[in-house]
Amino acid sequence: MLCPACRSDVSRVVDSRTVESGSAIRRRRECTNCKNRFTTVERSVLLVTKRNGVTEEFRRDKVIRGVGRACQGLGVSEDDLKVLAHDVEQSIRARHGSQVAADDIGLAILEPLRKLNVVAYLRFASVYKSFKSTEDFEREIAMLRKASDSADSTDPVDPSDPVRRASEEHGVNLT
Ligand SMILES: [Zn+2]
Repeated sequence: MLCPACRSDVSRVVDSRTVESGSAIRRRRECTNCKNRFTTVERSVLLVTKRNGVTEEFRRDKVIRGVGRACQGLGVSEDDLKVLAHDVEQSIRARHGSQVAADDIGLAILEPLRKLNVVAYLRFASVYKSFKSTEDFEREIAMLRKASDSADSTDPVDPSDPVRRASEEHGVNLT
């Protein structure tokens, strides 16, 4: 690593700490030549394998862009999306290590997105799972209702029920 000030390649580490929940190490360095101090970050690369066999580095901004489209008009903030992308990366690293198939990224997005916003979840799932008919939406909503019913015992006719609102926005009849 060259010193940003004098381009010398000799420096010593003066401080070192793990950051980003242990997935990266940040080092404070001092140039032996000019005493300039600078910081380096070392993290393990997460590789994404596409269907055509090409690999590329995982990028959170791609997740944010993809999920952001599904969240349009729903009041989801940029910070919410950043937190979601961080959680997605953490869960992928925990489950897949340093390499993941591109298709599995969508799968890792579904669960945290469901918790963030149910309508965005349905939009995203309809693309990811290639919904072709209203029956596909009905099946997904039935599963969501089942999951939320077992998670808490809210009144099933509660008009603020997010799943009910989601189904109404999509014009899906649940009865
Ligand atoms: Zn220097």
